[in-house]
Amino acid sequence: MTEKKVFINDDNKADIICPDCRSVKTLDISLYKESSTASIMKFECSCGHTSMILVERRKFYRKGTNISGIYISGVEEEQPMTVKDLSLIGLKFKTESDIKITVGDKLFVKFPLDDEETVFVRKEAVVKSVSDEFIGAEFCTTDPESPSDEAIRFYVIP
Ligand SMILES: [Zn+2]
Repeated sequence: MTEKKVFINDDNKADIICPDCRSVKTLDISLYKESSTASIMKFECSCGHTSMILVERRKFYRKGTNISGIYISGVEEEQPMTVKDLSLIGLKFKTESDIKITVGDKLFVKFPLDDEETVFVRKEAVVKSVSDEFIGAEFCTTDPESPSDEAIRFYVIP
């Protein structure tokens, strides 16, 4: 049996590709979202092939925050924001400007993770949801080796 990592989307669903027939199936894995360790689930494709899937729940742990930072959308100037929650894969923030943000926009975000403002997260993110002044965005890249991601992991994971 093969083991494969999956990525949970914001809607608690994961696209799983059968390693045998390559067909894609979308599973609801909201059960796995809130906990803080990884778990393995069994996936049986309609072709009869069974595979084990490692669901990385830690990634989706969200920490409530109230951090002041900035974001840049397109060619606009830096805009102030408040980060309301943070996970290894993204953030939710409250914007304090009138600049229109729409789903699919790419942003650059920068915010400190400590009071002394010595550790900064600097990342690109793509907007996934907009609800009044609250913006949900997913980081474009996650790299466990990068200083930003390491800082987020240290900050977010209890
Ligand atoms: Zn299959």
